Amino acid sequence: MTSQLHEECGVFGVFGVEGAADLVRIGLTFLQHRGQEGCGIAYTDGKGELVLRKDQGLVSRVFPEAVRGGGRSAIGHVRYGTTGGGGVDNVQPFLFCRRSGSFATAHNGNLVNADELMQALSTQGALFHSSSDSEIFGALLGSGLKGGGTISVPLLSRVLNRIDGAFSLLVLTDNALYACRDKTGFRPLSIGQLGGGYVVGSESCSLEAAGVHSIRDVRPGEIVRISADGTESSFYSAAAQCAMCAMEYIYFARPDSDIEGRNVHAFRKESGKILYRENPCEADLVVGVPDSGLSAAIGYSEASGIPLEMALVKNAYVARTFIQPTQEMRLNGVRMKLSPVRSLIEGKRLVVIDDSIVRGTTSRQLVRMLREAGAAQIHMRISSPPLRNPCYYGVDISSRKELISASLTVEEVGRYIGADTLSFLSEAGLMEAGGRSDLCMACFSGRYPTDIYSHEDNN
Ligand code: AMP
Repeated sequence: MTSQLHEECGVFGVFGVEGAADLVRIGLTFLQHRGQEGCGIAYTDGKGELVLRKDQGLVSRVFPEAVRGGGRSAIGHVRYGTTGGGGVDNVQPFLFCRRSGSFATAHNGNLVNADELMQALSTQGALFHSSSDSEIFGALLGSGLKGGGTISVPLLSRVLNRIDGAFSLLVLTDNALYACRDKTGFRPLSIGQLGGGYVVGSESCSLEAAGVHSIRDVRPGEIVRISADGTESSFYSAAAQCAMCAMEYIYFARPDSDIEGRNVHAFRKESGKILYRENPCEADLVVGVPDSGLSAAIGYSEASGIPLEMALVKNAYVARTFIQPTQEMRLNGVRMKLSPVRSLIEGKRLVVIDDSIVRGTTSRQLVRMLREAGAAQIHMRISSPPLRNPCYYGVDISSRKELISASLTVEEVGRYIGADTLSFLSEAGLMEAGGRSDLCMACFSGRYPTDIYSHEDNN
């Protein structure tokens, strides 16, 4: 059940700002790349109640106009779902109504002990409205409020200490907003001040869009309580080990975001430079696969002196190929999304840079298209190591069977995609690009920073 659901997602929250709900709509628009299946906003109505609006679809479809009214605080969520992701019931925020006061939650990440917790809660009589692991936060908070009372830092601390895995979590009550990050710090979450109020978002680009400049990360294991009295920081766990998801830098996050002090574009560009150092190549042109291969392609071109050309043009109006349900649809999806520029390509030796190979669909189709457009040679260079292991923390890499590099060697993958040569960035090169030694690299190395409970049995 829950182990089939993978939620990359993005969260955004505002406290103490006029027009909070509409500011959340704007913030979510800048997090749209993190999830396109559905979105929602929960906001205070200014009279002590919370209002929830959510639906399937893009932010511009669900909220075609400014969200008018509401009080001075709100949270929102954009959802990424794989095939059959549960419909509107799984779209967040989730609203939990209680006599002693309602609360809403918005969560990015995946919990590794969700099945165990859901089973325990169900045995105690808890009812779930969705198949999303994110509902567990509400269920645990609700059972902690059995005797009455309201959400508080001690209650949140107790609840978060029972949960393992990845969460950047927002909890909204009538009079406070809580921003929490799991103790491993898998997913990003930034916070900043706006006038007399505060704004929290999955990526700094969304805060910038809301007009916030002085931005800091919520730290691993931290709970920030934001209320009319300002912010109050506490840590639910002392055992904070930092392991930000490497795929955030490689693929998910927008290049204009800064995560834990490192700009995403700068990270990718550096990885392209190191990729050249590790895997040089004689070619006439460097070609980046839009969008997430472009920054690394700039780095590869700068380091090698091989000119960079825009030999692939992306159609911005075609949805992402990765989440198409069948392989045939995915193959067509690549053709729909990317077009080669024949006049640049004909007779040229190309070094093509992409950020990752998952199933191999994109690269295989791309190589075929570039050959048809007259490329003399195609050298694929990938700015991350081979993906060999599933992710249990919220990246949509669910099963080892889907990962081409889990069963084939680099040479075999190269033959499958039809490239003249293929090489990947090393794990050490990736760390070097980030200037750090504490990323979560589990999908490359198989070394998981937490217990993974029963997940290994499913793959
Ligand atoms: P594939 O065609 O299956 O090899 O997927 C590779 C392409 O998907 C790359 O061009 C990446 O930009 C993109 N990608 C990598 N990881 C993910 C992910 N977790 N979710 C969606 N797209 C991804």
